[in-house]
Amino acid sequence: MIRNMTEIVCKTIKLHRSLWTNSSEKHQLLLRRLSTIISNKNSSNRKHYDVVVVGGGIVGVATAREMKLRNPKLVISIVEKENALAYHQTGNNSGVIHAGIYYKPGSLKAKLCVEGLHLAYKYCDAKNIPYRKVGKLIVASTPSEGKTLLELYERGLQNKVPDLKLIKGQAAIKEIEPLCTGLQAIWSPHTGIVDWGLVTRSYGEDFLQGGGDIYLNFGVRSFQLSEDQDYPVLVVAKSGEVLKAKYVLTCGGLHSDQLAESTGCSRSPRIIPFRGEYLLLNQEKARLINGNIYPVPDPRFPFLGVHFTPRMDGSVLLGPNAVLAFQREGYRWTDVNVSELIDVLSYPGFRKLAWKYASAGLYEMVKSLYVPIQVKELQKFVPSLTADDITKGPAGVRAQALDEHGNLVDDFYFDMNREKNGNSVGDRVYHCRNAPSPGATSSLAIARMIAGKFMDEFKLHNQT
Ligand SMILES: Cc1cc2nc3c(=O)[nH]c(=O)nc-3n(C[C@H](O)[C@H](O)[C@H](O)COP(=O)(O)OP(=O)(O)OC[C@H]3O[C@@H](n4cnc5c(N)ncnc54)[C@H](O)[C@@H]3O)c2cc1C
Repeated sequence: MIRNMTEIVCKTIKLHRSLWTNSSEKHQLLLRRLSTIISNKNSSNRKHYDVVVVGGGIVGVATAREMKLRNPKLVISIVEKENALAYHQTGNNSGVIHAGIYYKPGSLKAKLCVEGLHLAYKYCDAKNIPYRKVGKLIVASTPSEGKTLLELYERGLQNKVPDLKLIKGQAAIKEIEPLCTGLQAIWSPHTGIVDWGLVTRSYGEDFLQGGGDIYLNFGVRSFQLSEDQDYPVLVVAKSGEVLKAKYVLTCGGLHSDQLAESTGCSRSPRIIPFRGEYLLLNQEKARLINGNIYPVPDPRFPFLGVHFTPRMDGSVLLGPNAVLAFQREGYRWTDVNVSELIDVLSYPGFRKLAWKYASAGLYEMVKSLYVPIQVKELQKFVPSLTADDITKGPAGVRAQALDEHGNLVDDFYFDMNREKNGNSVGDRVYHCRNAPSPGATSSLAIARMIAGKFMDEFKLHNQT
């Protein structure tokens, strides 16, 4: 375990090298504090847990933390297959604190996002985690986009997004973003940016301080039934290491369906990996972008469209697009896992989706390979942008759940394989199969919801 903790520290320092060098003293203290506390944690020889949470992304860590806050006596561990927390979706996203404009009024997504926004700012303030409320413009460039923009604005109002404004005309847009052009726009002043990896590590620190354990490099291979009646579930790692648990919660992101299938749940919804590739704006232009600039999204897709997003290190990301990844953790075109790819291509849901959106999908792929097309799209918002202002940037992979009819699953999806005799592994393993975007913004609200459901299910509120 000590080795694992040391790896967290190294990773934290590596990932945030730029912040260490560029950031304020307060920020540096925060990073130092995070690393020291994690590295000072004594190694635990515990192998028996009330709850094991699988997945060290923002959803798993926030939920483990929340359960510990609700019942400090619960003995909980988080197991993560990589050598750091926040390694996949959480550490490779746009870093936006969304305000909740897009989502259907009354939906869980809308509620959790707006709640999550307020909780995220409060949490960052309490922990001195740096963020910037840079705001966001959603810009309509054509009259037909203007119509969708108005609908979005109404949605935002119904969702109680704070201080939302509709602004009209070039001059009003330029007052907020001098380089940006458009007919009209929604202005959301409370949209912000933050490093969600840092936030996750801070949740992890809270969890460790509360007495939880974190195992890194613990890739779960299987769940098995043990003879031990008190701890009937064996959580078996690929390395052979075994933890015993009363109950298990999985929050496996890109692998959430496989974890669910491993306890006998259905194959559907399947996770289809969609890579989101970013471009990076050069420093000179980046200085001229004040906040987030988003297009009016295509209502057929759950993705928000290619946008300009400032980052905490001062750079500006352009993207992400959405191309099919050839493996679950396929961050590059050359990352190909043949069996995972065959699994995607043979899934009836994927074939139906591909048939329905063949041209849009192919266009995304062409754009990915031929950057000038992307530049042209971005010039719609910032005409002074040229190909020379841009270099290839990082990428993230979205875990998009898809049902067997080819519908993108846009809501939370929980699953368990209960057996009639109540005596199987499936009766004790609860899966979060889909925690849709903006999962990072909503993480504290999602954690409350999942912890509530899980603790109700297994009556863990008062267990000592
Ligand atoms: C490109 C992109 C941009 C985004 N932009 C934003 C944004 O700006 N704002 C926002 O709020 N949201 C954004 N999102 C969404 C947000 O990042 C996700 O909703 C959130 O990170 C999901 O967290 P998670 O914990 O469910 O998944 P993950 O972060 O993927 O974590 C799952 C973890 O489970 C681990 N795991 C899987 N299988 C096993 C196993 N067998 N054993 C042990 N561990 C396992 C994985 O290694 C991983 O660390 C974006 C997502 C992407 C991909």
